[in-house]
Amino acid sequence: MKLLVDRLGDSPRSESFEADAAWWETASARLPELGSADRRDFRFCVDAHRMGQDLYLGGVVEGQLELECGRCLNRYRLPLHESFRVVLEPAGDRSPAEPEAAAALARDGLCLGDDIETGWFRGRELELGPFLEEVVALAIPAHPVCREDCLGLCPQCGADRNLGECGCREARPESPFAALRALRRPSDQGES
Ligand SMILES: [Zn+2]
Ligand SMILES: [Zn+2]
Repeated sequence: MKLLVDRLGDSPRSESFEADAAWWETASARLPELGSADRRDFRFCVDAHRMGQDLYLGGVVEGQLELECGRCLNRYRLPLHESFRVVLEPAGDRSPAEPEAAAALARDGLCLGDDIETGWFRGRELELGPFLEEVVALAIPAHPVCREDCLGLCPQCGADRNLGECGCREARPESPFAALRALRRPSDQGES
């Protein structure tokens, strides 16, 4: 997934990349969520152009993830449609303070700043793989939920409450004050 800097002009140039086997191997080693996804579902569209000395990269990552819902534990498919934009400044003689960023600049010809919207580039050939991996990583939900109103599992019998009432009684403290008393008890004892 290489971008040739010399080919870029002032007007956007679109390129489309597929997730090749090498990229997929690296990305899925780092992102276990890709393990059950299909590489052929993933596609990267990149619009790139010059802005004076800088380079602008924008585009979208499309794909499909298969995740486990954190509430009901069912697996579900999540279509990804994650757009990105980053402005890269010429690195010149500068070297990033962070060793990881310095290594990326040397290896890929680009590195990102603190956020994913700015960075530096060097050379005529940019390897976009690790950058696109970062975009995918940010698109993966930290707490996957199959749907907003997923009812999850019954804490008593483990039944999927999306499928209907299981009949268990809700285990609730009698009053909010009872719960507070229970919380305070240990420290009360400590003081006496
Ligand atoms: Zn769920
Ligand atoms: Zn139940």
